[in-house]
Order: sequence, then structure tokens, then C-alpha cells
Amino acid sequence: MAENMKTDIKSLSPEEIKARLEEMGQPAFRAKQIFKWLNSGVQSFEEMTNIPKALARELSDIFYIPVPKILRKQVSKIDGTIKYLWQLEDGNSVESVVMSYAHGNTICISTQVGCRMGCAFCASTIGGLVRCLRPSEMVNQVLFAELDSGKKISNIVLMGIGEPLDNFDNVIKFLSLINHPDGMNIGMRHISLSTCGLAEKVDKLGDYNLQLTLSVSLHAPDNSTRDRIMPVNKKYPVERILQSCFDYFKKTGRRISYEYAMIDGVNDTHRHANMLADCLAGTGSHVNLILLNYVDERSLKPSTPKALKEFTDILKTRGINVTVRRRLGSDIDASCGQLRRKTIDKCNANPGD
Ligand code: SAH
Repeated sequence: MAENMKTDIKSLSPEEIKARLEEMGQPAFRAKQIFKWLNSGVQSFEEMTNIPKALARELSDIFYIPVPKILRKQVSKIDGTIKYLWQLEDGNSVESVVMSYAHGNTICISTQVGCRMGCAFCASTIGGLVRCLRPSEMVNQVLFAELDSGKKISNIVLMGIGEPLDNFDNVIKFLSLINHPDGMNIGMRHISLSTCGLAEKVDKLGDYNLQLTLSVSLHAPDNSTRDRIMPVNKKYPVERILQSCFDYFKKTGRRISYEYAMIDGVNDTHRHANMLADCLAGTGSHVNLILLNYVDERSLKPSTPKALKEFTDILKTRGINVTVRRRLGSDIDASCGQLRRKTIDKCNANPGD
């Protein structure tokens, strides 16, 4: 069978592998063995030493095992944060970032090649959306980062390139694969999914009742400000996305975390802080403030330390749970909103840097 006609076996669940094996007249227990091998990072069926050679050959006629190539790896001299640029089988590339904290290692993964959400402050959306990632391509970011870095990954955040809920089915499938006891076995409570606010998809996600943490990139408490920086707000205005968030909490019992990038003179005034407190009062939600990261092509600037402090104080006084996110990997452009496909051009231009 031609290589491009083969099925990506790593995007299949053990149950799906089992069904395919049964069609081939093979015993069901092989599915578990194969799934375990796939999640240990093997690159071919021949490496699966407890699988008969004839079956390995048969499998490689029908299926293929996607393996990403490391195009570039950068390690921060400041805090050890690692940024990977992966080349996918069709030549596209995406980035992941591994961060080390006292409680373990977290990987931030991409869910799409590019993004079509158009947020005014984010680099990932500059070239638009190229394509969605398949479940295996998300699993591989976690698996190969762990194998290459030697750092056991305990937490995953879906906050890299792309809008996870714009790739809904593949993301749900990825979550079930990465959470599987025979796979990487990462608990849902160790996973955060961040969305720019696709309200209908938040409603749909709530119906799955997963125990992951949902982060919503709010970035403004009112429609006139949010319209300026997030085109998604035209379709799902503040009151609509907040309603979905409140419903999500009712369905799952999981409190939402709101992300808020502090942008100088845009969303960082006392008025904004008070409006935000009005929106969230009594919900027990958590607000994560991030100082806007510089993106070359964007004219927006981070808030001043004074504005950040005053904004934080207002929220605290009003009883809102608030933290300010620490920046990691600042010397390797690994911070939120700085991940982008263009790195590949830079990389090709200066292979040594
Ligand atoms: N599409 C998803 C996840 C990817 S972005 C989402 O929008 O939530 C992860 C987070 O980084 C989001 O909160 C996003 O708004 C934020 N972000 C993007 N660009 C940024 C920048 N330049 N500075 C700070 N945060 C940024």
C-alpha cells in the first residue's frame, strides 16, 4: 500500500486497534501490546519484540507510525525551559515548551499548525490556520519531549499554537489516549485546556464532564475592549462566553481559570479591574494575570508594573482569586503568544543559532 494511504495507528485507541486486529484474524490481546509499544516511542513495528514477525510485516503494510523530527531545540540559560520545534510528516512544523516547576515538569503543546482566531496580540495567528493536528501529533509532542529531555512529564497544558476547541474531536481523542493507563497515563487533573472562548464548544466540552482544568482567555471584561483585541468576541460576546463558563462549572464542578494578558492602556485600567470583578464576583473563579509578551509584529505593549500592581490589588480587595504568571524561557521566545511557525525560516536561515 502506498505510504500516504496507510492509517496512522497512533491516532487509534486500543479498542480501535483491537477491532482492526480482529478483522485481520488476530487475537485481541495484541492490541494492548501494540498500544504500549506505540506509547514507548518505537518507530517501527519490527521493534515490537513480542509481536510475531509476520504480524509486524502485515501491520506495516496497512499502518504507519508517525514520528516527529526535532528541527530545533533551544534551552533557556535562565531557567532551563526547553523549546522544541517539531517537523511533522508533511513538512509543517509546530512548537512545544517544557517547563520545570517544583511540583514537576509541564509541557505546553500545540493543537493546530497556525491559528485562525486572529487575536491582536498573539504571534501564532499571524499566518492563519494551516491545518489541525491529529491526535498522534499531540501525543508525540509529549512523548518525544519526555524521551529527548529525560524529564518525566507530569502536566500538560494545551496552550501552544492553535485553538484546541477549533480541533475539537482530535483534541478529545488526544485526551483519551494520553490519559490511558497503557499509554502515558497522565491524569485529567494534570491537564489544562485553554480556549479563546468558543462558547458552543465549551458547552459541548462540559457534556463530557472531564476533570481537566478549563482556562478561558478573557483578556477584557467588556465588549468594546474585547472586540478590539479578540475577533472571536464578535461571535461570542463576553456575556455569552461567561454564561458558558458558569454552565461548565455547574456541569463538571470544575472552576474555570480566566487568563488576562495585561496590555498597556488597553485593558489595564481601574475601570477594567472593577468590571472584571463585577463579572466574576461570587463565582470562586481564578484569574491568571500575564504581562503581555512582546511580539515583534504587534504594536501592543505590556502594562507598567504600577498598573499591574493596582489591577491585582483591586481584584484582591474585591475577593477575586488572582495570581500573576511567572515568565519562563524569556531568552528563547518561549512565552505565551510567541510561538509561531516562522521560527522554521529563522532556523533554516541560521542553522547554527
Ligand atoms: N487558543 C488558546 C490557547 C493558545 S494561547 C487560547 O486562546 O486560549 C495561550 C494563552 O496565551 C492565551 O491565553 C492567549 O491569549 C495568551 N497569549 C497570546 N499571545 C500573548 C502575548 N503576546 N502575551 C501574553 N499572552 C498571550
